[in-house]
Amino acid sequence: MHSRLSPALLLSLALSLLPLQASALASIRDQEIAECRPGEIATWGDGRDRPAVAAKLVFVYEHRGAPAWISELLVMQLLERAVQAWAPCGVPAVVLRGVMTPALMAAEPGHIQVLWDEAAARGSFALANLTQRQLAISPAGFALLKQRNPRHPFQETLQMVISHEMGHLYGLMAHSRRCVDVTSYYHNGRGETCYARDRSQLKSVTEYRSMLPTACDLQRCRAANGKNGKAGP
Ligand SMILES: [Zn+2]
Repeated sequence: MHSRLSPALLLSLALSLLPLQASALASIRDQEIAECRPGEIATWGDGRDRPAVAAKLVFVYEHRGAPAWISELLVMQLLERAVQAWAPCGVPAVVLRGVMTPALMAAEPGHIQVLWDEAAARGSFALANLTQRQLAISPAGFALLKQRNPRHPFQETLQMVISHEMGHLYGLMAHSRRCVDVTSYYHNGRGETCYARDRSQLKSVTEYRSMLPTACDLQRCRAANGKNGKAGP
């Protein structure tokens, strides 16, 4: 199964939204990230959540093909940060550096290949493929981001797309309709938009979607993996 975050959509948002306003406005976003209120979990209904691709996830990162300005150390740090942020879901996961051959992939059913691969990313910034246990990142997507919006911190976009695509591998197949969730889509292309506690907040930051899983992302993840009542917060 596949899912995508459109570079065009992200770029248009990054280019059109206003710079950070008063910090009091941003704090509502922070609250939405930290707290999932009853009734706030809603999806676009575009997929059915399921358990993670394996009971224990091993993300294996291969740096070959990465854009020259993106270091291996940085990507490893972003992967580590995403795995730590998903940890409250209750599915154990680690990040390693390495090269996965088809034979190794067949021998290690919990291993997930993380790589830079234009074809596998299929026009998105990144794409999770659950069948192949692959998280493919697009070199061209990040080249376009740098070219079109050089002042935008690409690390934040990379962190967000890694966290988002990891969410699919953790079993979150439907996209969230709560704007701030890392698994969200802002709109469905048919005039329907995502939810926020205060929609005026959406323009308070360049990117409203969280870079890391939110309380609602984690709650959905625990439910998808039968971990409710076991893991906090
Ligand atoms: Zn997605």
